[in-house]
Amino acid sequence: MYADIILPVPLNITFTYRIPEQLEHRTVPGARVYVPFGKGRRLTGIVVRTHSVRPDGHTVKDILAVLDDVYLSVLPNQLKLMQWLRDYCMCTPGDVMKAALPSGLRPDSGANEHPYKPKTEIFVKPGEKLTNIESTDYSSLTGKTAVRQKEMLDKYVELSCLAENPLNPNPVTKKALLNACKSSSALNSLIGNGILELYELETGRLPEFGGHIQDPPQLSPAQQKAFAGIKDCFRTKNVCLLHGVTSSGKTEIYIHLIREHIAKGGQVLYLLPEIALTTQIMHRLQKVFGGDMCVYHSRCSENIRVEVWNRLTGPNPYKLILGARSAVMLPLQKLSLIIVDEEHEPSFKQEDPAPRYHGRNTAIMLASICGAKTLLGSATPSIESYSNAISGKYGLVTLEQRFRNIRLPLIDIVDTADLRRRKYMQGLFSPMLIEQIDNALSNGKQAILFHNRRGYSGTVECHDCGWVQKCDCCDVSLTFHKTTDSASCHYCGRRYKVPEACPSCGSKSLRKRGFGTERIEEEVSALFPKARVARLDLDSSKAGYESIISDFQEGLTDILIGTQMVSKGLDFDNVSVVGIIEADSIMSYPDFRATERAYQLMAQVAGRAGRKESQGTVIIQTRQPDAPVLEMVRRHDYKGFHKTQLQERLAFNYPPYSRLTIVTVKGTEQSSVEKTATNLAANLADLFGPDRVLGPDAPPVSKIQYRHIRRIIIKAGLDMATWTVRERINEAVSKTASTDSIAGISFSFDPDPQ
Ligand code: ADP
Ligand code: ZN
Ligand code: ZN
Repeated sequence: MYADIILPVPLNITFTYRIPEQLEHRTVPGARVYVPFGKGRRLTGIVVRTHSVRPDGHTVKDILAVLDDVYLSVLPNQLKLMQWLRDYCMCTPGDVMKAALPSGLRPDSGANEHPYKPKTEIFVKPGEKLTNIESTDYSSLTGKTAVRQKEMLDKYVELSCLAENPLNPNPVTKKALLNACKSSSALNSLIGNGILELYELETGRLPEFGGHIQDPPQLSPAQQKAFAGIKDCFRTKNVCLLHGVTSSGKTEIYIHLIREHIAKGGQVLYLLPEIALTTQIMHRLQKVFGGDMCVYHSRCSENIRVEVWNRLTGPNPYKLILGARSAVMLPLQKLSLIIVDEEHEPSFKQEDPAPRYHGRNTAIMLASICGAKTLLGSATPSIESYSNAISGKYGLVTLEQRFRNIRLPLIDIVDTADLRRRKYMQGLFSPMLIEQIDNALSNGKQAILFHNRRGYSGTVECHDCGWVQKCDCCDVSLTFHKTTDSASCHYCGRRYKVPEACPSCGSKSLRKRGFGTERIEEEVSALFPKARVARLDLDSSKAGYESIISDFQEGLTDILIGTQMVSKGLDFDNVSVVGIIEADSIMSYPDFRATERAYQLMAQVAGRAGRKESQGTVIIQTRQPDAPVLEMVRRHDYKGFHKTQLQERLAFNYPPYSRLTIVTVKGTEQSSVEKTATNLAANLADLFGPDRVLGPDAPPVSKIQYRHIRRIIIKAGLDMATWTVRERINEAVSKTASTDSIAGISFSFDPDPQ
């Protein structure tokens, strides 16, 4: 007998090995096997098929061992999904295998023995002596730090909600506690006296659950109706879109649905665009589902991934899996529902490396393979999904009211060009925004300020000759960061010193143009010296975005400044004002999705205002107050926005009226990259028709890490089957390769680019 095996190597084939007799009964599709490969190398592969056809032309090696015993690592449904991913993404089986299987499950004789060290985080919990907070005897807090100890203990009780929930307090990190009460000696005394205790957990692991499961809150009548509507849809359709405005309680509806599916013995996969920012959701779910759930994403340690995987293939799998896009690759034995929350988010798309899949589309495929249902949820659905919903391909359920009928925020559009001319602007701030923030602060409320660029200033430029400081290896201008006093490349991360004088003309008048979140932070601190200000972006995040978010949630900070990271599904109770500092930079994205992204981003950021008590206010500052998209954001007019977008897309033949694939040509030598790309585009135009092929073009960043990049966009008609599209692209690439010398040049394919 022989087995066809997927191996993690960059070749577009499966490999055939002989099955030794004693391994025959265990070598079945989905089992992991250990095989020799090349000179003395050994690899783990996945069996996809067994048969009796001896491959000819070369010697066939033996499988060395079968690594799976009782439970298969890869389920039949997963094999089907992997096959689909490989075709859809035009990548190799090995690419898919590497993306799916945690490296801990695919030992390789070449690699050193998992040099992996888990990252941990330290948490605080009640110690032995803290038995009852009502009767805690504060006189036992002694020593020089007694007062601080009491403060700290009170803080801990507050942060953990210990009084309301003594058996199952919220997890509190040591860092968050010390941030709130800056005395490590007080903390040490509390620990020494057994009042508090520290424990360590791997980052990303769910803190142990105390076993106090609560029922979710009752749904409001409007939510109840949506809930029933979704279930009704699922009677006839496999996919349903829940279009619910921000803070309408979509998450609560998900929780009720999940409960029903689990009660019937099913598994639920809950996908979020960026798990890193969703500790909030995790805690909400954990209160209802306790130990039945797990979390899976790319920041999880290898240990956790292997653990989750093994538990899922075993006899007692988790019922609820909360994950980022990569969780679609998990082995799910009883999948019955997938929820894709914030389905419009571009971060569901995997950019690099292959497979360049879209988490939402893959989820829909996975559900259909498993006979499960998919619920897409968003306040600002993607143009494609909403189109599928109104055409009847998906079900559609709408929720137009916020929970408790709080009105959607009042949105004001402020013309900064005019204000600047009349000298009313104070730096980046209009008087309207300043007044709103002032109001919020004096009423004990909070504000969020959004800007889509981090760093201090956009570029460093010579005032005399126009020279711009750029990265040596990427074709992109640098961003100046004041905190590090250096200019950095946001593509490759390299840092540079800002020169004293212009290297091109020697002039000393270098100036910094544009601005980023660092500069906003500086100006805010000057305008509102009493306010406690925090910044959340990729620069600050490494130092602990979780504590930045929890501090803001607990009211320890007043103003939160941030990039996209503040727009994503965060639920703060006390934010009355949201400011968008410069809408122009959001609207100027060089892409056919520019307007869609601008609408989604602004509506989502705006949705952070006034969620719990009263209507919030949003100030959008812009130099183009007449831009049509702003008016639609102001009126919360999603339907109008969708309609105008469809007209534009139809006129230019973009999705949903066509299916896009981007072919990227890369190489170190610019002239040969250009020549190959031009030939390839001509070959593609022969096969698809000239008006369906755009390019080659240099993308906005046309060189990254010394490699030049050219892109060709293919707009295939909807009547052409996906596999025909793939076949034709392959044909054009082969033809190009046969006529050109393509040494050193690589091609990559991106289906449904975002
Ligand atoms: P969305 O996901 O639509 O943005 P959420 O589910 O986060 O909305 O709900 C917004 C806020 O209102 C949350 O704090 C949530 O706990 C609260 N909420 C929503 N529905 C209910 C309900 N039926 N009972 C109690 N609280 C609710
Ligand atoms: Zn100069
Ligand atoms: Zn660079």
